[in-house]
Amino acid sequence: MLRTSTGSKTRSRTKRYITTAVVSFDGVAVTSIAPAVPISVGEAVRLIRCSDDKLPELLAAARAVKERFKPGVVTYSRKVFIPLTNLCRDYCGYCTFRRDPGEPGAHTMTPDEVLAVVREGEGMGCTEALFSLGDKPELLFPEMRETLRHLGYKSTLHYLEAMCELVLRETSLLPHPNPGLLSAEWIARLAAVSPSMGLMLETTNAALLAPGAAHDNAPDKLPAKRLRTIEEAGKQNVPFTTGLLIGIGESPEDRVDTLLAIRDLHERYGHIQEVIVQNFRVKPTIPMAHWPEPSHGDMLRAVAVARLLLPDVNIQAPPNLSAPYYDDLMDAGINDWGGISPLTPDFINPEKPWPHLEQLRLRTEAKGCALRQRLPVYPEFIPALTSRPGLLADKLSLAAADDGLSRRAA
Ligand code: SF4
Repeated sequence: MLRTSTGSKTRSRTKRYITTAVVSFDGVAVTSIAPAVPISVGEAVRLIRCSDDKLPELLAAARAVKERFKPGVVTYSRKVFIPLTNLCRDYCGYCTFRRDPGEPGAHTMTPDEVLAVVREGEGMGCTEALFSLGDKPELLFPEMRETLRHLGYKSTLHYLEAMCELVLRETSLLPHPNPGLLSAEWIARLAAVSPSMGLMLETTNAALLAPGAAHDNAPDKLPAKRLRTIEEAGKQNVPFTTGLLIGIGESPEDRVDTLLAIRDLHERYGHIQEVIVQNFRVKPTIPMAHWPEPSHGDMLRAVAVARLLLPDVNIQAPPNLSAPYYDDLMDAGINDWGGISPLTPDFINPEKPWPHLEQLRLRTEAKGCALRQRLPVYPEFIPALTSRPGLLADKLSLAAADDGLSRRAA
């Protein structure tokens, strides 16, 4: 049976998206084609808890909404992954990326290493340089302060800014930084050297910072702080990628709440270019090594409800974390596969290789869509960026085709 109440933690927001009851079950209308019946918070909660036998109906509704939004196409970004530093002051229970100084594999890339990777990616048709890094490691580790002093920078963010500018100036790739929490000043500085940036909200459930939970000893994962960064990006009209992480101890109601928090900010500022729905995958070396993974069905339910709550926002789910059945994600309403690299591994989930691009194309086409290469910033956000003269606008204009996707072939 589906739930009939929203639970005390779920926000009671007024729904603004209106739907037509083309498909419904247990009295819940779920297909959005034309104005008729509003989806309430309670309906979203019921849908995210629907039984497996009702799942096909939910998926059909979500896919219909996706086809109305971006018909016949699914995009991806051909990228290189740049782990600028894997030192991090947080200790998330699911993370294999972070290292302490001196640990095997701990590394901060030099400018030469950054340029070498980006240039190789340039030769392979990549258009995005995804900078992924730990959150302000110099605040915890004197070794990082020493590394930065040696490189000639005051902080990790100063170094990141310089590397984004280097990539922008010297190559055809566009930087997309993911550096953790940012102040208003740093959002402005990074926005001058990158067309878009990102911060996963992950969850609005602050209880996950409790001892033994996923965000124990991860002060930068306090939801209020992350919402503040995303809101500040909105105030500055910065195209922003965010999303939720499912299976880290949050409830299905928390997932709805997280989606609604993102939607609230997007309705106020219009800057959320993409929402990533990412599923937790267990790894033998992490503190959460014995944690249960969310089921494939739970992932599909979360993606489908994201699509129904955010009918006009790009929804992405990483294919490598749902292999071998990743094409099911298209049934749930995604319109983007995220960043796929022909060159660098997924440093966040190194044991889950990205699918070969030809495989991805074949499976996307088998589900009735063309696979198209996009830039790190989505087409609908490009005109505002190219209207401000400067190096960023010049590089973006060179990279973008008339439809705002990549000039490079898919
Ligand atoms: S997930 Fe990000 S913030 Fe958390 S430990 Fe890993 S690198 Fe640090």
